[in-house]
Amino acid sequence: MKTLNNGHSLENLVRRNVRELAPYSSARQEYTGEASLWLDANENPYGGGVNRYPDPLQKELREELAQLRGVAPESILLGNGSDEILDLLFRAFCRPGTDRVLYFTPTYGMYRVIAGINDVEAVAVPSGAGFQPDLSAAASLLGDSSLKLTLLCSPNNPTGNCISRPLLDEILCTAAGLVVLDEAYIDFAPGASMLPELARYPNLVVVQTFSKGWGLAGARLGVAYASPAIVGILNRIRFPYNINTLTQNLVREKLRNSGEVFARVEQLIEERRVLVRSLEQLPQVLQVYPSDANFLLVRFDCPGRAYQYLLEQGIVVRNVSGAVAGCLRITVGTPAENRLLVAAVAGL
Ligand SMILES: *Cc1c(COP(=O)(O)O)cnc(C)c1O
Repeated sequence: MKTLNNGHSLENLVRRNVRELAPYSSARQEYTGEASLWLDANENPYGGGVNRYPDPLQKELREELAQLRGVAPESILLGNGSDEILDLLFRAFCRPGTDRVLYFTPTYGMYRVIAGINDVEAVAVPSGAGFQPDLSAAASLLGDSSLKLTLLCSPNNPTGNCISRPLLDEILCTAAGLVVLDEAYIDFAPGASMLPELARYPNLVVVQTFSKGWGLAGARLGVAYASPAIVGILNRIRFPYNINTLTQNLVREKLRNSGEVFARVEQLIEERRVLVRSLEQLPQVLQVYPSDANFLLVRFDCPGRAYQYLLEQGIVVRNVSGAVAGCLRITVGTPAENRLLVAAVAGL
């Protein structure tokens, strides 16, 4: 029986149907030799490289990613975007109509949606000062055994800030169930990842994605880093061919050229700095919040009017004023795109 650092046992956290499930197994998963004829999966023998099913274990990709991130391949689970990973976590650990999850608002809208799809009660606690989790407001739920997942997002979407390290440690030490830390924007916040703390916190699941810093949103690849025990549980319910061959090959290629990716990220961080300065100089802009991500949270007098005006100029930003009063969320683009944005805001 595996005991987590918060005193709960992983076996007890998992839904019974998942614990007792006999996972689907393909002949190919069971065969480890070097075959000369593949007649097991009813594939078409003709075709240009994608006539075969993808590697269900994503062996090479996970090994290469493990190398880059300095973790064991057994600590990696890949998903069709991080959204699939979040959904797997709900399906593995949250009993519909019974269990609960916690998150702090404003945050990523998909947490609420995925909870709804899975018929799991989502408790949304408003963040405190500086958009930091308000632990006193969540105190009664944090220790409750109905709490299965605490969803944290750092850097947070749409506010752009990182969660402070002491708060992260406190949540990891006090929350019942698992703590899921969504690090979708971590490439833009060097040094802030909790990945190095995995061994210290067996209740921690770090979720990252290739959609933002790696520039592969269209390829759909999310990553969960967690203990091999947690990864093993998620693997029981993951569809075997969830990562297609084209994506596996494309991402392996990208990993081999990670230097270029990191250079681009540096460039975007510099562009973010330039864009902050340009926007701050405009009287139309009331406030630009500090950002550790590749977007800015910008406050206007009348965000609805600013949003419509930008749309009329052909510029689409995100109106998040329903979540953060007065604010639009603006992605950092190329230097030319950012100049067009600033010129448009100046004409407001
Ligand atoms: C963009 C984003 C993701 C990425 O989702 P994918 O399904 O991997 O594209 C995850 N979490 C947050 C908070 C995001 O903003």
